[in-house]
Amino acid sequence: MLEISVDLLLTPNVAVENASMIIENGYVKKIVTGGDKERGAEKLEYRGCIAVPGFIDIHIHGYGGIDVNYLKSEKDLEKMSEMLVKHGVTTFLPTTVSFPIDELKKSAELISNVASHSGKGAEVAGIYFEGPYLSKEKAGAQNPEFLKDPSVEEVKELYRASKGLMKILALAPELPGSSTVIKELNKLGVIAAVAHTNATFSEAMKAFDLGAKLCTHIFNGMRVFHHREPGAAFAGLLRDDVYVEFIGDLIHLHPGTISLIYKNKPSDKIIAVTDAISATGLPDGEYRLGGLEIVVKDGISRVKETGGLAGSTLTLDKALRNLVLKVGIPLQKALKFMTENPARLLGLRDRGILRPGYRADIVLLDRETLEIKATIIKGEVKYTR
Ligand SMILES: [Zn+2]
Repeated sequence: MLEISVDLLLTPNVAVENASMIIENGYVKKIVTGGDKERGAEKLEYRGCIAVPGFIDIHIHGYGGIDVNYLKSEKDLEKMSEMLVKHGVTTFLPTTVSFPIDELKKSAELISNVASHSGKGAEVAGIYFEGPYLSKEKAGAQNPEFLKDPSVEEVKELYRASKGLMKILALAPELPGSSTVIKELNKLGVIAAVAHTNATFSEAMKAFDLGAKLCTHIFNGMRVFHHREPGAAFAGLLRDDVYVEFIGDLIHLHPGTISLIYKNKPSDKIIAVTDAISATGLPDGEYRLGGLEIVVKDGISRVKETGGLAGSTLTLDKALRNLVLKVGIPLQKALKFMTENPARLLGLRDRGILRPGYRADIVLLDRETLEIKATIIKGEVKYTR
């Protein structure tokens, strides 16, 4: 048994001052105020700290030199999962970019193998396929060579290769065949996301009516707003039943755009993602993404040939500090974007909230700076600063 005492605990919906969490067998047993309530428990005190649920990154292509499209072995992904804990991540979805289907199947098999055993780091909760059914006009850093029209047969193959762990598939809904694929994803229990799309407002609305329930990095890789044709981003903003992801690096979106999302979406439908690539956590230099050459300068990642943004080098802890300290979103709300909301979207009913019966996936934040002080997964301290 373990007792963790902190100055403040955010569930994130409820704030508990001077809280102690009693943890048993990796799960939260109870939360008390005042501390020192449990006899025989090993005690950990984090003074000056806020305890919050572990972060969940649903959209991440790589970290520290590891690229989800180019995994050589299970070890690569395990290494990535171990590195992510220092950023507070306790669960993530390795995310592929557009690639040949056979290559994607190989990655899927490898990822699903890692997901089946809990390792030393953040848990792999499934796979997010970003493409290859995306618009050539809004390709961004998706390699145009690999973009194609949606195919139900291929989706079934990818699902099988993922051993059922395909969680999200992002597609452009204006492409021929997309409606059939969205219906198939519904049947499989996979989340259909609208992404890299030139869809009109009504085309996007139709996809949401069919069951798509996520907007991939809203505004990025979408038709630019026009008052007579607002496009997919505004469709996503206006649909209260649709989740929207956004990249909180303050490069992909102006802080004003983030405020627009915050003020227009129900706060339980917003998800902060990193869209991080393999260069994250590494110095500036030349990298690759889905077969494209990438240049990272001052931490900003761009396609060498086109100069377009190519994913990010963002981490979720940095995103949290950006949202709270620079955009001015209240801490408890910003936390929901990377804990409770992604857990609900993915149907992970045992995490995303600190409450008795839930996993003891906990991040300890410095109360002043919001820097990560420690990360705990299933009651085990995985990182201490
Ligand atoms: Zn991405």
